Amino acid sequence: MRGLWCSTRGWRVTALARGDEAWTATLDVGGRTETCQARVVVNAAGPWADRVAALARGNAAAAAVQLRLVKGSHIVVPRIAGAEAGFLFQNIDGRVVFVLPFETAFTLIGTTDVAISGSPAVATCSAEEEAYLLAAANRFLARPLERGDIVWRFAGVRPLQADEDQSNPSALSRDYALDLSGAGAGTAMLSIIGGKVTTYRRLAEAVMDRLAPLFPGLRPAWTASRPLPGGDIPNGDFDLYVEGLSRLYAWVPEAMMLALARRHGTATREVIGDARRLEDMGPLFPGGLSAREVGYLVANEWAMTADDILWRRTKAGLHATLAGCEEDVTAAVRALLPSKRP
Ligand SMILES: Cc1cc2nc3c(=O)[nH]c(=O)nc-3n(C[C@H](O)[C@H](O)[C@H](O)COP(=O)(O)OP(=O)(O)OC[C@H]3O[C@@H](n4cnc5c(N)ncnc54)[C@H](O)[C@@H]3O)c2cc1C
Repeated sequence: MRGLWCSTRGWRVTALARGDEAWTATLDVGGRTETCQARVVVNAAGPWADRVAALARGNAAAAAVQLRLVKGSHIVVPRIAGAEAGFLFQNIDGRVVFVLPFETAFTLIGTTDVAISGSPAVATCSAEEEAYLLAAANRFLARPLERGDIVWRFAGVRPLQADEDQSNPSALSRDYALDLSGAGAGTAMLSIIGGKVTTYRRLAEAVMDRLAPLFPGLRPAWTASRPLPGGDIPNGDFDLYVEGLSRLYAWVPEAMMLALARRHGTATREVIGDARRLEDMGPLFPGGLSAREVGYLVANEWAMTADDILWRRTKAGLHATLAGCEEDVTAAVRALLPSKRP
């Protein structure tokens, strides 16, 4: 298929070859190989952006992308008494550490800045980072936290612009950069380096601005006031919206309704679908997760693995861990996935 665009839909790009009129991307579709074609490749692979750009190396249209990878770790503890708001703590090294209410029952503490090399996929929160975060928070907490309080720890990897002069990972720019090559030939690759969730729309508009010359007749930006899927809550009044849902689905337990509404907003009704009683939601799991929601996430949000469901699309894994049944829940969710997914 030769289209203006095609999305990798969560499948891994394993090769990129530039033809006269289009790129051909080879995709690993759960062990099967498929190809798709497009005039422009937008490389939004985050900390893997250099590796994806390297797939196209040898093509004149692809420039090498250079990243500095900086790991940021977080710890999660049961909700700290009285910490219902978010706090920023100044640490003795000059960095700030945030302490945020997380889900309904937890507090999230982060983050660190640790330069890494190697695969971002295996980055984890180290014992040193745990100790650093506990010490930073404990300078300000009435009841000091201990290692045993930690319910979950995780690490993310920031793909920052390489700055050879800068050795301090905390001082590297958090701004994004766009690397466009091959535009003159009409088949371009645009790599996104860095960025923030909070500025995603600005970034997306900047990407479209850079690509506009390649697509004459493109409409101007139209997303500025368009809510994200599920975000069109009437009058923006979330509490009132949940009250309405609770009246409509009186059989859904309060905590489950809140969890569904927080995750799906106005798409909650689609998740519940034609269920008329709690049994229709299928097996239930901690964190308000149900077999029906798992099916929705697979069908609509490209969830492929148990981790996608329990840790990425929802944080039900956290509630399962607190309840001491994470392994059983993981196995049960895995059994619900179509085909043999990991
Ligand atoms: C520790 C940390 C703290 C942060 N704090 C903040 C903050 O406070 N505020 C804020 O706004 N932002 C923050 N950010 C930044 C924010 O998380 C990122 O901007 C955001 O997650 C980027 O989303 P993305 O979808 O562009 O990229 P990513 O979430 O990095 O996704 C990249 C995707 O590319 C996929 N991919 C990789 N290789 C391939 C391939 N070969 N084929 C197909 N797909 C591929 C990966 O599987 C992944 O899903 C933070 C980031 C980190 C790491």
